[in-house]
Amino acid sequence: MTGRVTDLPFDRPGRFWRGNLHTHSNESDGALSPAETLRHYRDAGYDFVALTDHFRAEFNFPLTDTTALRSPGFTTLLGAELHAPRTEAGPSWHIVAVGLPLDFRPPEPGESGPELARRARAAGAFVGMAHPSASLLTAADAESLDAAHSVEVYNALADRENRGDSWHLTDVLLNRGRRLTAYAADDAHFQPQDPAPCVAWVQVRAESLEPGALLSALKAGHFYSSTGPELHDVRLDDGLVTVCCSPARKVLLTGGAPGAQVVQGSSLTECSLPVEMFGDGYCRVTVEDADGGRAWTNPIHLT
Ligand SMILES: [Zn+2]
Ligand SMILES: [Zn+2]
Repeated sequence: MTGRVTDLPFDRPGRFWRGNLHTHSNESDGALSPAETLRHYRDAGYDFVALTDHFRAEFNFPLTDTTALRSPGFTTLLGAELHAPRTEAGPSWHIVAVGLPLDFRPPEPGESGPELARRARAAGAFVGMAHPSASLLTAADAESLDAAHSVEVYNALADRENRGDSWHLTDVLLNRGRRLTAYAADDAHFQPQDPAPCVAWVQVRAESLEPGALLSALKAGHFYSSTGPELHDVRLDDGLVTVCCSPARKVLLTGGAPGAQVVQGSSLTECSLPVEMFGDGYCRVTVEDADGGRAWTNPIHLT
């Protein structure tokens, strides 16, 4: 248990870049143009955004080209939210694919969601299982999406219907041995009834703000997610996970076993929690600040 855990991003070269991986413009059902949408994020201090318009026939299968909207200190990843029939509870899959080529073909007749996701991954994309709670995805649905790199564990739009959090399903999958990471995203549409944007993001560790570097880091799991707190360092040494973060009221260690290790306080910025209860499975860190904002690490595998 001693030693460095190489899948944690915190001591990797480079720095963290803040981005939103799930965003819609008026190329599908968003309210703003791609340029207006991106300007909103850039002005809010984001480093990158993936526009992921709905890749549906009714919108003429948009794969919105945002390359001309990159500027010094702000970049974009090309992507889409992919749809195909069907899940146990709903008529279509929602699959976030970031890093797609512009010539990615629309779904073939009869192509299933899991097949479409495999094609997106083979084309170079980081594949995310979008808002599982809001889609009422079952464990069987989720198991079938074998091309997913990651689960959208928090979706700010779905939080409107109190289904923003999808950690339960993610923990079930992780406990069955799936090596999935976890990301938070706005799913912003900028419609009047929507929650405010810029509330759920990823911090991606990479040596540069080049789209290729960000994409590689996403696939490798070199990121954490947040709706508020900053994680400065998380490391595993001698059976303890040590967390350094912006001031927090609670630091949690949960994982592939019921129960948790918890530290609470008024302004915690560093604490250590034992991993023993998670055996040779996995654990993960959640940090909660005084405003209820949370930050989540990716799963930390203990073998
Ligand atoms: Zn969706
Ligand atoms: Zn969406």
